[in-house]
Amino acid sequence: MEIILASSNRGKIEEIQRMLGIEVIPYKDLIKDLHIEETGSTFAQNAIIKAKTIYEKFPDRIVIADDSGISVPALDHRPGIFSARFAGEGASDKENLAKLVEELKAKGIKKAPAYYTAAIAIASPHGIYTVHGWMWGEVIDEPRGDKGFGYDPMFIPEGFDKTLGELDKELKDQISHRAKALKLAKIVLDRIK
Ligand code: IMP
Repeated sequence: MEIILASSNRGKIEEIQRMLGIEVIPYKDLIKDLHIEETGSTFAQNAIIKAKTIYEKFPDRIVIADDSGISVPALDHRPGIFSARFAGEGASDKENLAKLVEELKAKGIKKAPAYYTAAIAIASPHGIYTVHGWMWGEVIDEPRGDKGFGYDPMFIPEGFDKTLGELDKELKDQISHRAKALKLAKIVLDRIK
């Protein structure tokens, strides 16, 4: 059965395609001009909203959606579910990263514990499923490297001294929040597709 990916974030689409190892169609290739309001208060709720909205348009397919973000306990766990709009509605990855750097600097924080969360929702004729994955590490106030996407240049995964902007994508694929969630999603997909 065809699998549609309810995401328009290039970085995420690339990672999900690569890690799932199966063909997924980004929903923007099928529907133009669809704005999905992320009104949930958790990553899982927002992933379900995205998956269900697209699934209602294609009820004979499987739709997977990822809602993810970075949380910094020293900043009251922000940006969290607001990671994609931290610098304002429609902000770019660069603007969001700059905003997080600015917030750290404003508090005089050079380095602080942080974690990424990924919630994946799968909407299918069999029902709706959700899985999660996390990656722990630290954020720094001086971003380094240009690999990955989003907040990666300011995130150092636990056990490393380089940022995800400096580390190879193959390594990120082994340790990331999304990789962990996708491993579980794959188990569900293998049973229902
Ligand atoms: P969403 O597309 O609404 O789930 O927003 C995700 C937000 O979190 C975007 O701002 C992403 O840049 C950021 N984000 C999620 N996962 C990652 C990651 O693996 N690396 C860097 N930024 C990420």
